[in-house]
Amino acid sequence: MNKTELINKIKEHIEVCKKCELWKTKTNPVIGEGSLDSEIIFIGEAPGFNEDKQGKPFVGQAGKIFDELLNSVGLKREEIYITNIIKCRPPENRNPTSEEITACSFYLDRQIEIIKPKIICCLGNFATSYVMKKFNLREEIQGISKIHGKVFSVSTLFGSMKIIPLYHPAVVTYNINMLDILTKDFEKIK
Ligand code: URA
Ligand code: SF4
Repeated sequence: MNKTELINKIKEHIEVCKKCELWKTKTNPVIGEGSLDSEIIFIGEAPGFNEDKQGKPFVGQAGKIFDELLNSVGLKREEIYITNIIKCRPPENRNPTSEEITACSFYLDRQIEIIKPKIICCLGNFATSYVMKKFNLREEIQGISKIHGKVFSVSTLFGSMKIIPLYHPAVVTYNINMLDILTKDFEKIK
């Protein structure tokens, strides 16, 4: 099977998934979007209101900021792959529980194995701690305000890879000063 077929298989599973309670309240699951040949994957937290309505990642307010940040380093959506740890929206955008992360991360793990990225950018605390644990960086985990913009090198079954923790773009909607910090951190991706 090629990458598209493999991802489509996962999609089929997600569409009927009942591994946690979030399937009950979602409208559409958000699987992920972008190039399966991309060397870079961005991982957010979970779908919000607009993502749930459209079934697409980062299409609301945080998505606009994310697009600006990508543009600032000359990247286009079609050139990257973007997904979330959690595929169904948590009610009222509450934080995902550790049970939900455990249930849903199976799909993210498969997506990473299929795409085989050279860089994973983690958007926010939840993605950062999940990805760092997964790649044996548990000891290095700190809050996002401490480790944003740092570059961690790991070796994986598909070769060497870099992990870059970043602030979640939604922080800019609460504090406009964060845009400068995020823009500087995105420079590292280049
Ligand atoms: N926030 C996220 O973490 N993911 C989305 O898809 C949208 C907002
Ligand atoms: Fe399944 Fe993930 Fe949706 Fe829970 S959030 S029902 S684990 S796809």
